[in-house]
Amino acid sequence: MTAQTPTPRDRNLSLDRIRNIGIIAHIDAGKTTTTERILYYTGKTYKIGEVHEGDTQMDWMEQEKERGITIMSAATTTFWTPALDTVQPHNPFRINIIDTPGHIDFTAEVERSLRVLDGGITVLDAEEGVQSQSETVWRQADKYNVPRICFVNKMDKLGADFFATVEDIRSKLGAKPAVIALPIGVENTFRGIILLLDQKTVIWEGDKTGAEYAISDQIPQDLQTDFHKHRQILIEQIAEQDDELLEKYLNGQELTAHELKTSLRKATIASKLVPILCGSSLKNKGVQPLLDAVIEYLPSPIDIDHIQGTKPNNQEPQTRKLIPEEKFSALAFKIQTDPHVGKLTYIRIYSGTLDSGSYVYNASCDEKERVGRLLLMHANTREEIKNASAGEIVAVVGLKHTATGDTLCLESDPILFEGISFTEPVISLAIEPKTKADQEKMGLALNKLSEEDPTFQIKVNHETGQTLIAGVGELQLEIIVDRMKREFRVEANVGEPQVAYRETIKKDAQGEGKYIRQSGGRGQYGHCLLRIEPKTRGEGFEFVNQVKGGNIPREFIPPIEKGVVETLENGVLAGYPLVDIKVTVYDGSYHEVDSSEIAFKLAGSYAFKDAAKKADLVLLEPIMKVEVTSPEEFMGDIIGDLSSKRSQIQTTHTRGKTRIINALVPLAELGKYATILRSMTQGRASYYMEPSHYDEVPENIAESIITRSNQSESK
Ligand code: GDP
Repeated sequence: MTAQTPTPRDRNLSLDRIRNIGIIAHIDAGKTTTTERILYYTGKTYKIGEVHEGDTQMDWMEQEKERGITIMSAATTTFWTPALDTVQPHNPFRINIIDTPGHIDFTAEVERSLRVLDGGITVLDAEEGVQSQSETVWRQADKYNVPRICFVNKMDKLGADFFATVEDIRSKLGAKPAVIALPIGVENTFRGIILLLDQKTVIWEGDKTGAEYAISDQIPQDLQTDFHKHRQILIEQIAEQDDELLEKYLNGQELTAHELKTSLRKATIASKLVPILCGSSLKNKGVQPLLDAVIEYLPSPIDIDHIQGTKPNNQEPQTRKLIPEEKFSALAFKIQTDPHVGKLTYIRIYSGTLDSGSYVYNASCDEKERVGRLLLMHANTREEIKNASAGEIVAVVGLKHTATGDTLCLESDPILFEGISFTEPVISLAIEPKTKADQEKMGLALNKLSEEDPTFQIKVNHETGQTLIAGVGELQLEIIVDRMKREFRVEANVGEPQVAYRETIKKDAQGEGKYIRQSGGRGQYGHCLLRIEPKTRGEGFEFVNQVKGGNIPREFIPPIEKGVVETLENGVLAGYPLVDIKVTVYDGSYHEVDSSEIAFKLAGSYAFKDAAKKADLVLLEPIMKVEVTSPEEFMGDIIGDLSSKRSQIQTTHTRGKTRIINALVPLAELGKYATILRSMTQGRASYYMEPSHYDEVPENIAESIITRSNQSESK
C-alpha cells in the first residue's frame, strides 16, 4: 500500500468521497501522535515528527511545540485510498482534518470545531480508559450530533486493557460500542489486529514509521475462539439495527461483509453504534485500518443531507441542502492572525459555491464582505484556489467584520445558522505594559488575540486604567501573554491569576433614582423607579419597560437601560459583574426642558444601585470539576487535602492499580494545585479540571473578598 499524493484533480472528487473529520481526545491520549501518523500515511508529510522532539506538523505554533500540546484548530486537507474497504476499495478519498485541542482550557476550540465536523475519531488511552475530559468532549460531540468511531490507542503501553476500555465506553459514555478490530498481543507483544468484518489479520513488521504490514486471511490459532465469539457479537449488533438483515440472520442466511458494513455505516451515522478499533500510533500500528474506517463508517457531507437555519430577522425556518447546486451558505468557525497574509477566516461551506473576489453577506452582523483570496490549508503550507464549494473547508483572506460563529450567505437569500456557544471566563490576570511604547501595541495585540479566541476577554477599568484579561484557565492566559511577547513584541508585567467572581441578588426589591440639577444655566432632570428580581442561574439579564401614560418619554428608556447595564458590569457589592437578574422600569417623571439622555442614564444607574442594596446581594464563585488520578498509597493525603479545600468529594473508584477521585472544588482553593499535588505524591498523581458551575461563596469568605476588593478599589 502506498500513500496517495494529492493532485489538483483530486479536489474535484465527488462529495460522497469527502470526509470532514476531527480527532477528539483527552489530553495525552495520543491525538497529536495519531494526527501526525495520519498525515504521514496520507502522504502529506514525509518526515515523521515526534511530539517530544517538537517538530510535529499540526503544532506549528511555537508555544505549542514547546509545550507539546495542540492549541489551535487548523484545517488540513489529505487524501487516502482505502485498501480493505469492501464497499469502495481502491478509490481515492479526501479527508479534511479539523484539529481539535485536547486541553480543556481550550473548550471554545473544541466546540467550534465540532460544529463544522461531519464525524469524529475519539482517541482513548488503552491504559487509562475513558478519562473525565473524554466524557466532556463526548457530551459536546453528542450536542452537535457528531457520529464517531473510537481508536483505543497505546495498546503497546504497560497496563493496556482493550476490553476494560470498551467497557468504559459502554458504562461511562453510555454508547453502544461495536468492536470491529481485536488486538493481537498486548503491551510489548502487541503487533497487529484482526478485522472482524473483513475476517483478515493485519500485522505490522516492527515499530518504525512506514513499516510494512501484512494482510492475511489467517486468523492466529490462539485467537480463533475470540475471533468467532466477537464476530458473532458484532454481527448480532449490526443485524439488530436493520430489520431486513435481522430477518436474514434469523433465517440462518450468511450476511456478506458488504451488507454488514453498509448497515454499520448507517448505524454509525445515526449514532446508534460506535465502531471501535485499536492500535498504537507511537509504534505505527493500526493507523491505516483507522483511515479505512473513517472512509467506511463516517459520513460524507451528503450523508447529512441538509442543514437547518432561520431567516435573519425572524425565526422562520430555512434549510439548505449540502450540495454545490444549492444557494451559498457557510459558517465561520475560526479566525487566525497570520504573520504573512493577515487575518484568516476559516469557513465550512455547507451549500453552493464561493469564488475569490466575490461578495458575500454576513447574516449575523448584517454586513457585506468581499472575499479576497481563498486558501486551502495543508498542515503548514497553503494552496491558493479560485473557488470552493459545498463540503469544503477553506480559509478566506479579506473578511473584515466576520467573527467566529457567523453565517455567510447570499444577500438575496439570507440564512442564519445557530451560533457557537462558549464557556464564560472564570479566571483573570492584571496585565501592565512595561513602557509607553508597549502600551499602544498591547491594546492592538490583545484585540487581535481575542478575535481568535472568543473565550478570552479584555476588560479595561476606566477609573484605574488597569487592563484585565480573562479566560477559562491559567494555561490559556499564559499562552496569550506568551504570544503577545513573541508575535507582537509587547513586554508586559503580569499579576497573579485572580478568580472571576460574580454578584447576584437573592430577592426582589425596588429602587428609585433621581438626577436633578436645576440651579443656574440649563438644568438636568432624570427620574425613574424600577423593580429587580433574581433569575435562575445562567439565565442572564432581562430588561422590561412597563412605564404607563408617558411618565417617561420613550426615548429616555434606552438610556435608563444603559445606566443599568453599566452598573451591572461594574457590580455593586465588590466590583464583580452582577448576573442573572430581571429589571423592570415601571415609573418616573420628566421635565419638558431639562430632561436629557445623560440624566436618565444616571437616574437608571442610581435606581438600580438603590434596589440592589435591598435585594440580598451575594457573591458567586466558579466551582471546578476536578479529577485526580493517583496510585492507591496517596489516596488518604489527596482526599485530606481536598477536604481542607471546601471540596465535595463525589466519587472514588479504582482502575487497574490507580485510584480516581472526582470532586467539586472552588477555583479559589486550587491555586498552585499542580505543585501541591506533585510534592504530595512525588509527581505520581495527575489531575485535570474544568469549570462546572457558579455557586454562592460562604459568608465568612465572601466578607474578606469584599473588603479586599473594596480596599484595592479605593487605593
Ligand atoms: P495528545 O495530548 O492527545 O495530543 O497526545 P500526544 O500525541 O501528545 O501523546 C501524549 C504522549 O503519549 C506522548 O508522550 C506520546 O509519545 C505518547 N503516545 C502517543 N501514542 C502512544 C502509543 O500508541 N503508545 C504509547 N506507549 N505512547 C503513546
